[in-house]
Order: sequence, then C-alpha cells, then structure tokens
Amino acid sequence: MITIDGSQGEGGGQMLRSSMALAVVTGTPVRLEKIRAGRAKPGLMRQHLTSVRAAAEVCDGELIGAEPGAQELTFHPGAVRPGDYHFSVGSAGSAMLVLQTALPPLLTASGPSTVVVEGGTHNQWAPPFDFLLKSYLPLINRMGPEVTARIERHGFYPAGGGRVVVDIQPAPFLNGFDLTSTGRVLNHRLIALVGNLPTEIGDREIARAVRKLNWRKEDGEVRGVRTNGPGNVLMAEIECEHVTAVFTTFGRQGTRAEHVADNLVKSIRGWQKTTAPVEEYLADQILLPLGLSAAQPADCGVRCGGTYLTGPLSQHTLTHIDILQRFLDISIVVNQRQGGQCELTVGSTSSG
Ligand code: AMP
Repeated sequence: MITIDGSQGEGGGQMLRSSMALAVVTGTPVRLEKIRAGRAKPGLMRQHLTSVRAAAEVCDGELIGAEPGAQELTFHPGAVRPGDYHFSVGSAGSAMLVLQTALPPLLTASGPSTVVVEGGTHNQWAPPFDFLLKSYLPLINRMGPEVTARIERHGFYPAGGGRVVVDIQPAPFLNGFDLTSTGRVLNHRLIALVGNLPTEIGDREIARAVRKLNWRKEDGEVRGVRTNGPGNVLMAEIECEHVTAVFTTFGRQGTRAEHVADNLVKSIRGWQKTTAPVEEYLADQILLPLGLSAAQPADCGVRCGGTYLTGPLSQHTLTHIDILQRFLDISIVVNQRQGGQCELTVGSTSSG
C-alpha cells in the first residue's frame, strides 16, 4: 500500500484525484492522509468526494473513511470495469475535476464507456469544459483512445446544474508523444459565455480583448447560455498545428468587463513570451497520461512516454511529478532552458 501525505507539495485536491486514478490503473491500494491540508477548508468537499467515489465505482473498489470533511481515507481498487457511469457533484463544485479520476482508467479499459458528469462546467481553479474539449482531449486522442465530449448544460458557481457527456473508445495502450513546438498558429478565437446576465458584458469583454490582442472583431463571439444562475466566462483558444492553448478568466460581480479581458490578455501574453507550446494547466494535466504511457511494457508495440516544453513549473506540476513517480516505474526529468522554458521528459526507468 502506498501512503500519500496530502499536506506535501501543493496540498490540494489534484494529488488526491491523481492518487486515486493511479491506484485504479495500477491496482495499488492507497492510504491518503492529511487530505487537502494546504487548503482553507481542508478535507473532502463534495466535489472531491464525488471524484473519490467515481474512482471506486469504475473498478468496484473498496473505500474506507470517504465521508464529507474526512482528512484520511483508504482505498482498495478492484478491476477496471467499462460501462455507463453517472457522477453528480450535487453542488456547483467542478464536474470536470471528477473526470480526472474516472477518465484515466477507462482510456485503456476492455470496452467503451460513457460518463455523464453533473455540477459546475466552468469553475475557477478547475479545467473548464472548453479546455477539456479543445486542449486536453485532442492530446488524449493522439495517444490512441477516441474520447468525445459534449456539453448539454452549462453550470457556473454558485448555482451549478451543468451536464457534460463523455464517450470513451479505449485503446489497448497509450501512445506517447513529443510536444516541443506549437507549429504554425492556425486560428484564434475569443468566446464570452454569458448566462442569465446581459450579453452586453460579453460584448465589452470581446471589444477590449480584440483591441489589445490586435485580433479582428470577427474573432470574438458572445454566447448567451441557459443556466440555473448567473455566470460569465471569457475564454481564448489559440489553435496551433500541434496543440490548442485555452485560456480562461471569470467575470465576477464588482469586476469590470474590461478588467476581465485584461486578465485574459495577460495570461495569453505570458504564454506567448515563453514560446513553449504547453501552458501551465495543460502542463500538469498531461503528465498523468504521459506517465501511464511511459510505464507500459517496452514491447507493447507503441511509443512509451515523451517530452514536452512548458514555461516555469507550477506547484501543481511539481507535486504531480512526485505523485506519479510514487505509483509508476517511471522517471520524469526536468531540464531548465533559457527564457524560462522547462523541458519535461517522461520515460521508463527500465529503459533509462
Ligand atoms: P486542485 O487545485 O489541486 O484542486 O487542482 C486544480 C486542477 O484544475 C489542476 O489540475 C489544474 O491544472 C486545473 N485548472 C485550474 N485552473 C485551470 C484553468 N484555467 N484551465 C485549465 N485547468 C485548470
């Protein structure tokens, strides 16, 4: 059994979710202690509880101690079982984060699965649906599985009520990849989602962002969406030959639309400045599938592991590097490059 101290490193929910996903894929029992000790409200909140239960459900595993607020739990995974799953956070907590535990084991399961998640679809400090669709899943699909996702209802904090359906055609193995340049920029778009609020907010966000980025007015789109409560998100998608970068900022009561646009522009410029293809959030999230790829037997017939370039490593990425090496027989080597770039190489320890 592997014991994970949740107070180490970043100290948030991602180490909990990744540990659960890795426990399922590797069939390793895990004990989690001091769960989310680094957060203002430590322990399992609804969204985490849903994620933990999702991991147990996709493998018929045994969970001990997974209760609201719990700061420790033990998990004995069973065999991964493809099928139809429905996970509801039951609050506005991010439904997208639940996929971080349910999706990895199903990518190489023995048959197809459909996963319906309900809760928040566009939450702060979580991957928004559009990031999943445009940035994360294309890389997963490049690894062999075919995963499609559609949004049936948007869910914003605090009302929630969103719904996303994910269909998974698994692959026997995960093909590794290198991602060391963006390639040519093919397209860029700005999308302002506006739910239960005047669409004029989105118009102002787009007007400011296109002006600052020197993009055309037609590159921006305001989408009025039906939601249970008010919400506003401004997103940019920069589609390149090898990767699509997705940036997100959230509108908030008391924050001017122009300020929301300025924050988005700042994130885009930060990424452009490093000239590394993989932005901060994708950098921590693709580590897990690439790590699983690197851990496969050398004679499995596909490429195992790979290399990617990103900017300065976030705490999430650093913590993820540690967790992955606890569960998998892999090495993750970080090379600092000029201009703030970091090169991450994920490989098998047995092949060097
Ligand atoms: P934690 O803070 O430990 O619960 O983990 C949050 C997760 O959400 C991490 O996997 C982050 O990469 C991800 N995340 C946070 N903000 C964004 C964003 N704007 N776009 C994509 N992913 C995000």
